[in-house]
Amino acid sequence: MTQIQNFIGGKFVDALQGATLDLVDPSCGRVFGSLPESKTEDVDAAVQSALAAFSEWSSLGPVHRASWLNKLADAIEANLTELALAESMDTGKPLSVARTIDIPRAVSNFRFFAGAILHDTSEAYVDRPSVLNYTLRQPLGVVGCISPWNLPLYLFSWKIAPALASGNCVVGKPSEVTPLTAFLLSKICADIGFPDGVLNIVHGAGPSAGAALVAHPDVKAISFTGGTATGKTIAKVASESLKKVSLELGGKNPTIIFDDADLEAASNAAIEAAFSNQGQICLCGSRILIQESVFERVKAKLVNGAQALTIGDPLDPETKIGAIVSRDHLDKILHHIEIARQDGGRVLTGGVRVAQKGRCKNGFFLAPTLIDNLAATCTTNQDEIFGPVATLIPFKTEGEAIQIANGTRYGLSASVWTKDLNTANRVSEALSSGIVWVNCWMHRDLRTPFGGVKESGVGREGGTYALRFFTEAKNVCIKTTSL
Ligand code: NAD
Repeated sequence: MTQIQNFIGGKFVDALQGATLDLVDPSCGRVFGSLPESKTEDVDAAVQSALAAFSEWSSLGPVHRASWLNKLADAIEANLTELALAESMDTGKPLSVARTIDIPRAVSNFRFFAGAILHDTSEAYVDRPSVLNYTLRQPLGVVGCISPWNLPLYLFSWKIAPALASGNCVVGKPSEVTPLTAFLLSKICADIGFPDGVLNIVHGAGPSAGAALVAHPDVKAISFTGGTATGKTIAKVASESLKKVSLELGGKNPTIIFDDADLEAASNAAIEAAFSNQGQICLCGSRILIQESVFERVKAKLVNGAQALTIGDPLDPETKIGAIVSRDHLDKILHHIEIARQDGGRVLTGGVRVAQKGRCKNGFFLAPTLIDNLAATCTTNQDEIFGPVATLIPFKTEGEAIQIANGTRYGLSASVWTKDLNTANRVSEALSSGIVWVNCWMHRDLRTPFGGVKESGVGREGGTYALRFFTEAKNVCIKTTSL
């Protein structure tokens, strides 16, 4: 059995009250360990360690901090096999995905921000004859990083890396559903002698450990990725102490296929966008908008594409669709499919649990599901389901596509398929969305702004945006005798 512990001040400790939560492998429903159910006092101990480490870490300077981040990246890379297996076991995602996407991206996150901090610049304003203004960008102090279960180490490191690079000390709170790779990261920190207290990791449930971190008076900022409802709660609590918040929240993203698109490429990408990671990516395209004249053709391709995906044991290299992350989440998705049926939705494929044999017979597997015949305004087309469920919605004109695409409370990403550059430009401009991909999906350049509008979030991550979030700008104005 795996016993996860908190990592505070460079030491591995249990929760002070000794309570634990179960670790479950969703591919077989088996409890394989436990994690600490931390409370306010555990979070406080972590914050105190971070405070104690801040002065030295923030004075190290970018070159030394970058060197530590690169050491972390190297050590993650050296442990890729173990980390990928842990990520697959914790989340139910195919091992091949954890090995080729999740863990390599965690390595890239640390390497990227190690480089970014060395190239970060600041402004100076010269007002002749004798005034010089320049901007100092100073770390905030102790910051909290709270991450979700869908891309555990990938998203945890996406927050931690810029926070540390900018000179902050971190208290991280990974999802209680998938804490294993964050725990392995703390072991890596200990192995490479990462400075004590600079990165602390506290495990536990959101409403206790997470909430305590958000409410802590010595935590200067919260970088959060998770659900919109949680984001709103965090924003309220953080406002009490006027903490900075970065909120990366849910999505109900449209894939828009115009009739002039390369329909083969668009359909393949729509399938990938709908079902990657079992549809559990905030950027998944869960509404597929198809121009009426090609609706039936694209529908047939999509149904074939969904049925061709191999569902099975995440450890099998042939598997494309692994397990849903938990029993609760599986039930939630099935409930959404039931609502779609009640609203007149036609389930074109999937919509049911898939029984596995052998090791995975008690696992949480669900067939990739496509549904049509639903109004764009119904619950299924409005609420984030966050599972392998996508709807097909016909549209006649560009204007109608934009109206449907923008007609939810979310605005995270969109994928637009057309060969016409003018259509691509017009639609990209009109979409209420933080990210628009044209003739592609999920291409990520870590320098670009990442985030959503409306209820998909507040603020941007990525490159300079993250470095700005984790620093405070101070203007220094010097009056000199001459310049
Ligand atoms: P969640 O909101 O339930 O939990 C996310 C994290 O917040 C977990 O660590 C949890 O313990 C913690 N938490 C829960 N309640 C808290 C509270 N009151 N105070 C402080 N922390 C609290 O989300 P989830 O179910 O883990 O993840 C799925 C959601 O995340 C989906 O909505 C998905 O769209 C979203 N997501 C968004 C992005 C993005 O970049 N926009 C990326 C990935 C996932």
